[in-house]
Amino acid sequence: MKNPTEEVQGMAEDRYWNPILERLPQERLKELQFKKFKRTISWAYENSPFYRRLYREAGIEPGDIRSLEDIKRVPKIEKGMLREVQQRDPFPYGDILAVPIEEVTTFRQTSGTTGTPVYQAETWEDWELWSEWWAYILYAQGYRKTDRVFLPFGYNIFVAFWAAHYAAEKIGCEVIPGGVLDTQARILKMKELRCSAFMATPTYVLGMAETATKMGIDPKEIGIRRITCAGEPGASIPSTKKRIEERWGCRVFDHVGATEIGAWGFECEESPYMLHINEAFFLVEIEDMETGEPIEEPNRPGKMIITTFDRLAKPCIRFDSKDVIKWADHQCACGRSFRLLDGGVIGRADDITKVKGVLLAPSAIEEVVRGVGELSDEFEVIVTKKGDIDDITLKIEIRPEYETKRDEILKRLQTELRIKTNLGYNIEVHPYHSLPRYDVKAKRFKDLRKHS
Ligand SMILES: [Zn+2]
Repeated sequence: MKNPTEEVQGMAEDRYWNPILERLPQERLKELQFKKFKRTISWAYENSPFYRRLYREAGIEPGDIRSLEDIKRVPKIEKGMLREVQQRDPFPYGDILAVPIEEVTTFRQTSGTTGTPVYQAETWEDWELWSEWWAYILYAQGYRKTDRVFLPFGYNIFVAFWAAHYAAEKIGCEVIPGGVLDTQARILKMKELRCSAFMATPTYVLGMAETATKMGIDPKEIGIRRITCAGEPGASIPSTKKRIEERWGCRVFDHVGATEIGAWGFECEESPYMLHINEAFFLVEIEDMETGEPIEEPNRPGKMIITTFDRLAKPCIRFDSKDVIKWADHQCACGRSFRLLDGGVIGRADDITKVKGVLLAPSAIEEVVRGVGELSDEFEVIVTKKGDIDDITLKIEIRPEYETKRDEILKRLQTELRIKTNLGYNIEVHPYHSLPRYDVKAKRFKDLRKHS
């Protein structure tokens, strides 16, 4: 018979992918992070000409880092620098590369929506690290050996759900790669094989539900028990999450990551709309967007500066990700000591913009629009300038069955928008199903003021 300690251990093992690291007290985690930071910066300084140059110019050496406080003296990097360095040898990554080029086994690139793509080099060990990060995510969201997981994404040059595929296998799930199939074929395959989980961007998850309904299949019949979203903030926006959960009749979880950083954050089963940072592998700092001063207190938004530990080919040290986040004011009930972010990634520092002198985050508009049940899933926001005055147009679609309630719906929408964003909008109603549909990430927010 098991003794009680073993039993507790057994329960813990079933709840956490790594029961030791995930429950390490914060002080111990901080010690671990400091140790790993030192190791990571030394590796970069010794092996990456880009980092050595950067640190020499700033007059800093790895030996100068004597406490977690000293980390703030280390220069930050940003996307533009990662692009520039690609002009140098070795092709195509540039001299940021910290391993001989022949050690690189995997290529991925960023989508390039905000400029030239950044090429990402991974060694075999780096790629294995990706699936380890994802194993933490999936395990915290309840994926187990009994799951049959469908991956409805194009297996191509983008990192997307590649590592999720390997992590699901690592956990012991049965994995079905739904690569080149179209949406209808994916839905039929998921139904035929009685899949229990899948992963996609929130835009695509909603699009799949719409396609299934048109095919005469109620998404709830398919038997999906959990969906993991990534690539867009939707699953951390309450009204979007609710929509997805209602359509599919299951739990929806968020995850955040980036090609240059790794899979750094995840929602667990206990704290909806919150993200755990995997602090055993990543160091997150929050900075005030205007003053750059560090933010330690909860509920004050700032931008994320993030370091990935132990990435060999292309170290990521104090990367200014432009993601806007804020600390939660409590520890999670799931028992993980990894800290929580309230509301996931609230927005991008680039997207949060001043309109008529008011700070506007596109996610706030999404929260309102998706909260009005009579509207379709699609919408578009266009900010322009007429003379000296900013002007916001919100394009929406009303579901055909609610057409007769149009005036009442528009009035309610206008009021909600005014309350949540402090701004007035020109609302344009477009025919049902006429706004652009997106397969992966949506481009629903357009700020045209810079060009007018
Ligand atoms: Zn938790």
